[in-house]
Amino acid sequence: MIQLSVSRHESKPLKKSEIPLAAPSLDTVQQVDNGEREFRRASQSKSERWTARTPTKRDITRRLERVSAEDASRLKQCCSAFRVLTCGEHTLRSYPTFRCKKLFCPDCAAERATRLGNQTEAKIREVMKTTNGRLCLLTLTMKNAATLGGGLVKLKKSFANFKRKKVFKKHIKGYFGAFEYTFNPKTNDFHIHLHLIILRGKFWNQSDISDAWRDVTGDSFVVDIREIKNAHKGVKEVCKYPMKPADLMAMPDDKFLEVVKMKKGARMFVSGGCFYNVKLDDDDAADDNIFSQFAELTEGDACPFCKQELFDVFVNRAQHIGLHELNAMPGVVKNNSS
Ligand SMILES: [Zn+2]
Ligand SMILES: [Zn+2]
Repeated sequence: MIQLSVSRHESKPLKKSEIPLAAPSLDTVQQVDNGEREFRRASQSKSERWTARTPTKRDITRRLERVSAEDASRLKQCCSAFRVLTCGEHTLRSYPTFRCKKLFCPDCAAERATRLGNQTEAKIREVMKTTNGRLCLLTLTMKNAATLGGGLVKLKKSFANFKRKKVFKKHIKGYFGAFEYTFNPKTNDFHIHLHLIILRGKFWNQSDISDAWRDVTGDSFVVDIREIKNAHKGVKEVCKYPMKPADLMAMPDDKFLEVVKMKKGARMFVSGGCFYNVKLDDDDAADDNIFSQFAELTEGDACPFCKQELFDVFVNRAQHIGLHELNAMPGVVKNNSS
């Protein structure tokens, strides 16, 4: 995503009562001043909000350099160069020469979220053809945890017990879910929760779910269930970034380092029932190709648009973004890695 810095100076029209008439009394002047002061205060906090931008990959890399040079250099290399298959006019395939695949990398998180989302949607479409039920979004939360690892273990264990419960089996035909982590700098701990897309058979009300969840967690009972009207939006809600860059930057060094060192192998999503086996293709073997409809084309083949011969070029990140702008063809250019 290209971030443009936006500065906006909106002038709020004065209300009729605030417009000073000829020869205003002292009172009216005072009123206008107060109004003006309030407006200025409001617009100042607004401009502060505008400047509080989402931390970029460069911000994260800079911070990482101070705690782990090795991880910083991997993050820096990730998506810094791209291999592009082109005829000179049309861009057909494009993929980074290196991906770090870290949980906290904005590039890899975006790519992963898209891939996971597409697979989940396909599975839902397939299942809904033969299975009846209501598609719902179920969120299970845990009390805040001091460490990410500890909290995640506890949530996974609780969920394992939860799905073994009779009430779970009675109401839920299938589920797919992913974990999300937020950080609270005030209390210096993690809020870990699980977003699930479920295919609900029998109606299950929120307070019963809450009771069942408290049964397995011992201390956590905050749950949310709502029907999904739009499957695409529901899937997006579940398959999003597991961690916001802003949260990452708000952590003290020890927590930040814990996130950085988290094992890639830690399963970040769950599936079962009629949604069993919704998963990412093996992470390491995953093709980074982002124009999947041309996945089989290679150097030497003819361009399907102009029949000229295709060749590979290597470009850097900035050139890559420019390339997509120049070649923007609806339905063809799907770039999610900038
Ligand atoms: Zn990465
Ligand atoms: Zn062409």
